[in-house]
Parts: sequence; structure tokens; C-alpha cells
Amino acid sequence: MFDSTDCDISKSHSIRIIGAPFDGTVSFRPGARFGPAAIREASDGLETWSPVLDADLESVSYADAGDLDLPMGSVEAALAVVHEAVADALNDGATPFVLGGEHLVSLPAIRAVCERHPDPVVIQLDAHADQREDYMGVRLSHACVMRRVGDFLGQERIRQLGIRSGTREEYGLMQHHGTLTTFRAEDLEALKYWIGEQPVYLTVDLDVFDPACMPGTGTPEPGGIDWWTFQRFIQTMQGCNLVGMDVVELAPQLDASACSSVLAAKVVREMLLVAGS
Ligand code: MN
Ligand code: MN
Repeated sequence: MFDSTDCDISKSHSIRIIGAPFDGTVSFRPGARFGPAAIREASDGLETWSPVLDADLESVSYADAGDLDLPMGSVEAALAVVHEAVADALNDGATPFVLGGEHLVSLPAIRAVCERHPDPVVIQLDAHADQREDYMGVRLSHACVMRRVGDFLGQERIRQLGIRSGTREEYGLMQHHGTLTTFRAEDLEALKYWIGEQPVYLTVDLDVFDPACMPGTGTPEPGGIDWWTFQRFIQTMQGCNLVGMDVVELAPQLDASACSSVLAAKVVREMLLVAGS
């Protein structure tokens, strides 16, 4: 379904898929660098039609630009390549959709989107707060990505759903800035009202799902959401002005059943449908 081999990104399209196979700062189990390839492979088995969204990928204009060539051994250099690719997509008039890779790849993507669309809001689905000032002295880590985004965007423009793990300091910061919200129907309604016409960057760390349905991720956390909760969330996002997206933290080799890759591909499909129709 998503396939870089028959793609010509010089043609105009509204959404550009960019693979960012990077897992240089993961804190527990590596392997997210294999995420983009696994999502593409699993996507072959999916229908293009989403019954819940009443929409078909056949009528969405998107192209898969394939995986970025990311330099090994330098986090800054790898993030610079992601930034450039996302900026190129925006310059071509396409909405960037980054496939991770680990969550740190969202940082250059969100920065590039902010350079194009002043003052977007960032919606994060995740088990983890990712609000540490540093992780073992390192400020560019997947455990710090939302803190780094807040540094230039402002925490008040961030909303976080599914969070169930973090330090006392992270929870204090999130409560102070009111970034935390939930998947309850009334909260989703309030979220949609808060978003209004503002441009939205949506970042989905797949460990927001329960490890029962998403074991293929580096830092699984018990107590996550199921598929139908995600489906209600993504329905809420219909009609929002999505200007950038990513799906991160699939580590496919950690799930021998490959169900995690299928779930990830289906998440990508639903996001493409919401952004493209
Ligand atoms: Mn994360
Ligand atoms: Mn996470």
C-alpha cells in the first residue's frame, strides 16, 4: 500500500511519506530503525478502505519517498537530514508524514513544520511523557523529545494523551502547563474545540497502545489503549488542519507475530485518510 519503489515524488501529491530509520538514542531495546520497512511490508495486507472513517486511500493523494540515508554515529547529523527532508516536502506543498525510527526524529520534523506554519499545536500520543530535561546527561534523547519541542514551541501548545510513565518532575511540568489530557469522549471533544482552526502536528509513539496489542516496541508500558480507543481519537481529528505527522517507535523484530507491524501500518492508513480527505 505504501511503497517507495513505484513512487515519483516529483509529481505533485498532498502527503509525502518519509522513512527515518534511526534509533541512535533509544534507552532500552533498540530496533526502531527497522520500523519504516516493516510498516511498508505490513501495509500490503491491508484494505485501502476504512469502514470507521468511511474513506478510501485510493482517493488520497500521497507518495512514499522511501527511507532517508541517515549517517551513523552522529545524532545531530541524522536529525539534520530529517529536518531537510521535511522542509523539502513542505516547500513542495506536501504534508510531511515521517515514519520512525525512534521518537527523537519528531524533533527536526516539528521544527521544520514550525518554520513553515507559525504556532502549530502538537498532539502527542505516547505512554511516556518524554519531558525530561536530559536523560543521563543527554538532552537530545527520545526521552526528552517533547521537552525539546516545548523549548521552541512553548509547552502551552502541546497536548499529551495516553501518558502513564514519567518522573515526578515530568508530571509536575505537565500539570503546570496543562498539557495532559485523556481519551474520554468529553476530553476528546474539548481537545477538538481547543484545536479549532490551528495547524496540527500529530505525533504517535506506538507504545501508547497496550503491550498486549503492541509488543513490538522498545519501551513497552502496561495499561495502554486498544485499537478502538485510537479509532475514536482519529475520528475526532477529522476536519482538523493536519500539517505534519509521524508514527514512531515500532521495533518489528521484537514481535515475532508481526501483529505490531500490522497495527502500525493501520495507524498510518487512518492518519493518511484523516489528513488527506
Ligand atoms: Mn515517545
Ligand atoms: Mn513512548
